[in-house]
Amino acid sequence: MKVLVINAGSSSLKYQLIDMDSEKVMAKGLCERIGIDGSNLQHTNIAKDEKTKIEKPMKDHGDAIQMVIDALVDEKIGVIASMSEIGAVGHRVVHGGEEFAESCVITEAVMKALEKCTPLAPLHNPPNIIGIEACQKIMPDTPMVAVFDTAFHQTMPKKAYMYALPYECYEKYGIRKYGFHGTSHKYVAQKAAELLGKAPSELKIITCHLGNGSSISAVDGGKCVDTSMGFTPLDGVPMGTRTGAMDPAVVTYLINTGMTSKEVDNLMNKQSGVQGISGVSSDFRDLCAASEDGNERAQLALDMFSYQVKRFVGSYAAAMGGVDAIVFTAGVGENDAGVRAAVTEGLEYMGVKIDAGKNSTRGTVDITAEGAKVRTLVIPTNEELMIAIDTKRLVEG
Ligand code: AMP
Repeated sequence: MKVLVINAGSSSLKYQLIDMDSEKVMAKGLCERIGIDGSNLQHTNIAKDEKTKIEKPMKDHGDAIQMVIDALVDEKIGVIASMSEIGAVGHRVVHGGEEFAESCVITEAVMKALEKCTPLAPLHNPPNIIGIEACQKIMPDTPMVAVFDTAFHQTMPKKAYMYALPYECYEKYGIRKYGFHGTSHKYVAQKAAELLGKAPSELKIITCHLGNGSSISAVDGGKCVDTSMGFTPLDGVPMGTRTGAMDPAVVTYLINTGMTSKEVDNLMNKQSGVQGISGVSSDFRDLCAASEDGNERAQLALDMFSYQVKRFVGSYAAAMGGVDAIVFTAGVGENDAGVRAAVTEGLEYMGVKIDAGKNSTRGTVDITAEGAKVRTLVIPTNEELMIAIDTKRLVEG
């Protein structure tokens, strides 16, 4: 089966066509500036290693999906002969609320339930829904599956996901911890079990998804029992431009200084994190370069980031009553050996020690030092493949 994976944003749409026999990507690309002047599609035919950019107006997501299909079946740049070769479509959906603890085949009832989750992710869910509807119009006979960023975390126990606000805030507004990056945490936790040659049910794993957005999860017996992001993806560790956790009283304090709630929201989401601290960049490559040049604030940003990740690692080992493996993934987790070294430094007392030589290699790698009790792994994430795997599983029943 060939599965088309769609990740629709407000003015963009990313896609991959994956051959599930080999689990290899056949084509991938991005539609940009949907509904805005200068719309274009960037398409890559993987086998030919050929990139094409097509500039053409796309008034909406329907136009974008049609362009994606046209590119996929095109004689020159395409990879399939006709649309009927696409066996199913997997859609990334950001927020599944408490409605969705699993990926699911999209039906009318699912679409209604999705609408109910929209208030929880007002910026992200509407474009996801528009992407699904546009796809359904163009491919009415192709089964579609929704895969949620939040679903993997729905196994958290209530003591982990509740906030100590009056209980009515949970009942009335659904305010609780939901967690994000679930598809990535699930994928790398499964891969880690495979690598260790054990069943997920036998393992306590801490997965560190460290990228532009970062979150850490505690995965006990294959199930998520806690995660660092919360009601929104602002919680947890400092990120590229997001604060991560801090005293919530800071928010009201800033509002009392005269800032509007919108300004505070913007400050905490777009101007904070390692960017805000360093004043240099949100990109860890720039921070490393600046700190090597002696920039103290860039070094401070890196130190704050690694310290907070380390705190989560320690607290999740405590939450699970031990840890068998720590996994690093995503842009920073996969590529930044310095961050991995800083996060694991000083954790020998709990059986964690990495090998400096192995830590400097790339790709999927076990960086555990000889004799360490806890395995430390680097596993490149692959959210699109996880979406395609879930899609195929559900469609084939
Ligand atoms: P992601 O959100 O997973 O795509 O991660 C993107 C982030 O990964 C970038 O903003 C960089 O901070 C970081 N990154 C990517 N490559 C490297 C690298 N070679 N070294 C350090 N950080 C990197």
